[in-house]
Amino acid sequence: MKKHNFSAGPCILPQEVLQKASEAILDFNGLGLSLVEISHRSKDFVAVMEKAQALALELLGLEDQGYKALFLHGGASLEFLMVAYNLLEKKAGYLNTGTWSDKAIKEAKLFGEIVEVGSSKDENFNYIPKGYIVPDGLDYLHLTSNNTIFGTQIKKFPKANTSLVCDMSSDIFSRQLDFSQFDLIYAGAQKNMGPAGTTLVVVKEAILGKVSRQIPSMLDYKVHISKDSMFNTPAVFSVYVSMLTMEWLKNLGGIPEIEKINEKKAQLLYSEIDLNPVFDGYAQKEDRSNMNATFNLTDEDLKETFDELLKEAGINGLNGHRSVGGYRASMYNALSLDSVGVLVDVMSEMERKG
Ligand SMILES: *Cc1c(COP(=O)(O)O)cnc(C)c1O
Repeated sequence: MKKHNFSAGPCILPQEVLQKASEAILDFNGLGLSLVEISHRSKDFVAVMEKAQALALELLGLEDQGYKALFLHGGASLEFLMVAYNLLEKKAGYLNTGTWSDKAIKEAKLFGEIVEVGSSKDENFNYIPKGYIVPDGLDYLHLTSNNTIFGTQIKKFPKANTSLVCDMSSDIFSRQLDFSQFDLIYAGAQKNMGPAGTTLVVVKEAILGKVSRQIPSMLDYKVHISKDSMFNTPAVFSVYVSMLTMEWLKNLGGIPEIEKINEKKAQLLYSEIDLNPVFDGYAQKEDRSNMNATFNLTDEDLKETFDELLKEAGINGLNGHRSVGGYRASMYNALSLDSVGVLVDVMSEMERKG
């Protein structure tokens, strides 16, 4: 039986995408060869890369606006330093909303001065700082749109007199935004787009080439752009599956359509969390993430019962991150409303037992 997969990442992917991907592993495009044993320079794979790049820009509404889409190695974690390597000359601003932004700050400090414009560390990142001042003279302002671990999500992005750079690893393609407000977006594939192994970077070409330092080729966005994201062998399987997932999303109606479904899922779960006395939400209500819902049992003695019921219902991946504890339900694009319904049923059964 296929489980209801609430895993935070690597995460659930659409069943039809997994089906197609498994076929391509055995025989890609009827070539009599596997997707993973053909040249990345072959016409068949180049078409995959081009399509993946085009779909990313199309879904985000960023075609013909000077942006390039790249599929790079090293995960979102490498982007923490690549962003600074390529863009930080003197001073950059970072909004610290949790573990991932903390890590991004640590790396960026190797390249210049970092101003933490706001932080929610005082409450173990259960909210998004607001009303903070963005100083002048920043090379860029870095944000993390969705905090995978703590279950908070930026709903309103700041206006700033500088480039906005955003780590969208865990909510890319999940909701409508004016993506043109960002000059650089990056996202590790394994949260909402594909298997681990590739990272989508969407960058406005005009912001590059301004720092005075020399940049090693592999870490230079301009080099990757000049080689159409094929400077070295790309993660062919991850790029292919990401392309299939984007295609699936486009056929579904794109971001406007998935946003409606994601809102329904989040509403269903959060209303259960709020109404059910057995559970307490972790993140502050106005900042709750539609992707990762964090919550706790009000009585820890009920843990064994709850975990047993989850197991019986075929629910996977609900344990909270070790830095928060409790539970976390990740409701990425491919998770169905039905799966959330199954979880909510288990939660209401807990209320009857509790
Ligand atoms: C998971 C995650 C990362 C780290 O991604 P890797 O691809 O494992 O390096 C960075 N940022 C956010 C918001 C994440 O959720």
